[in-house]
Amino acid sequence: MTSNVIGMTTSAAAPGGSEGAITTGDTVTGRLVEANRRYAEAFTDPGMDARPVLHVAVVACMDARLDLHKALGLQLGDCHTIRNAGGVVTDDVIRSLTISQRKLGTRSVVLIHHTGCGLESLTEDFRTELEMEVGQRPAWAVESFSDADQDVRQSMQRVRTSPFLLHTDDVRGFVFDVRTGLLREVDPA
Ligand SMILES: [Zn+2]
Repeated sequence: MTSNVIGMTTSAAAPGGSEGAITTGDTVTGRLVEANRRYAEAFTDPGMDARPVLHVAVVACMDARLDLHKALGLQLGDCHTIRNAGGVVTDDVIRSLTISQRKLGTRSVVLIHHTGCGLESLTEDFRTELEMEVGQRPAWAVESFSDADQDVRQSMQRVRTSPFLLHTDDVRGFVFDVRTGLLREVDPA
């Protein structure tokens, strides 16, 4: 294995080696790559179209305790899943939903926040903290919240009022309880 030399800028050539081999080793990513090998061994091409079978896009928090497919009985190919910290509807979520609806045929939107979300322990002060540490204020809002229900309502409102979306009549919001596994619907009003 060739070593990288700091300051050397003339060549970015990757070291040669066995074609297609991925280094696994004793790292988290290595473990994932190993798991993927086993997955691919049992995998058969489902021959699916990219358009979600259930015509639905789910926007949810990235929280590790929320297994969207299991929690919602979803199968491969059923839906689009769009996840970020909090499951909040940011401009980038609107971007994905716009493509999902206009190019890939989804019509329903499901929004999922959850109990015990990390966003509840943050405030917009986090941006100031970052600025003090790195000398640059992030352009993005933290999108922190103290009331998950209220934030689900705000997210529903952002979807419903987006000029880019074709379908805003079937938009429902929920809070997932990480202790019981149950969804509770949030009244949009
Ligand atoms: Zn969360």
